[in-house]
Amino acid sequence: MPTSTLSSTDPDWPIRQAAFQQLAELTRLHGALLPWDVLTQGFTFRGELLYFATKAEGIFRPRQMRGGALSIKTTVPRRGRIPRYEDLASDDGAFFYRFKGGDPGNHSNQLLARAKDLQAPLIYFYGVEPGMYRPIWPAYISRFDARTLTCEVMADESMSLEPPGTALHDATADRIRRGYITVQAKKRIHQEAFRLHVLHAYEHRCAICRLPRPELLQAAHILPDRDERGVPAVPNGLALCHLHHGAFDADLLGISPNGRIELSRELRDTRDGPTLEHALKAFDGQPIQKPVRPDQWPREAFLEERYARFLRRAA
Ligand SMILES: [Zn+2]
Repeated sequence: MPTSTLSSTDPDWPIRQAAFQQLAELTRLHGALLPWDVLTQGFTFRGELLYFATKAEGIFRPRQMRGGALSIKTTVPRRGRIPRYEDLASDDGAFFYRFKGGDPGNHSNQLLARAKDLQAPLIYFYGVEPGMYRPIWPAYISRFDARTLTCEVMADESMSLEPPGTALHDATADRIRRGYITVQAKKRIHQEAFRLHVLHAYEHRCAICRLPRPELLQAAHILPDRDERGVPAVPNGLALCHLHHGAFDADLLGISPNGRIELSRELRDTRDGPTLEHALKAFDGQPIQKPVRPDQWPREAFLEERYARFLRRAA
């Protein structure tokens, strides 16, 4: 049974639609993570260029709009600081977005309140590293908390988008669906951020063979699921090419706690063509190439636990 209806109508529906369409096109062209330079291209609505967001404002509504915010944005600080992903660490089916300043009544924060009242779909630009954003849309402000100066943001699926005034919404069903979708979105952002950080740390090269093609590189977990949530931790990762990632995961190749590559006896005893000889056996006993920064090196305790598994399975 529908338990609530839209209290009033979003006056900006056509503009939001245009923004979402362009965003879909941009992610199709560039992938799920968008550089700021791409976002600044904006979108067109009735022949006019509008922006998705501005550098200065976390909460943004183009002047052509009259209702709630079009987008909200979190940024990752420039070098030297470790980005925090507090939201990703929580099991909640929601993101928590901090108000601008300490006054819930200021102009920016009121754009959040308005978006909540209208249940207007907006875009959450989630910063995964400096100048890189993961757009989440449609997103909804589900709670506006003047006491903690935060609002709760939930992601939904684009299939749920309906023109205002046409649909009765079941608030409970909406909340359950959005909670689920939000948790999935958090997991994806976590994986994307993990890959990005690990590949950067290893300068976009395989830690074993130094292959320098990002298209062929993956971020391998040393201990699976150890950091499924929370900070995407580079010390639990290794940049590996597809071949070496596969061999590592199948325990055909191990890495000792001090960072030496070791092949399973099975592989060592096999005689075969050039791939086995040059791409695998040649690295037996060699050290892995670690990141430049010691705080990004694989953690010894993680390697040790993983190596014990390798020894058990490769025996
Ligand atoms: Zn490799």
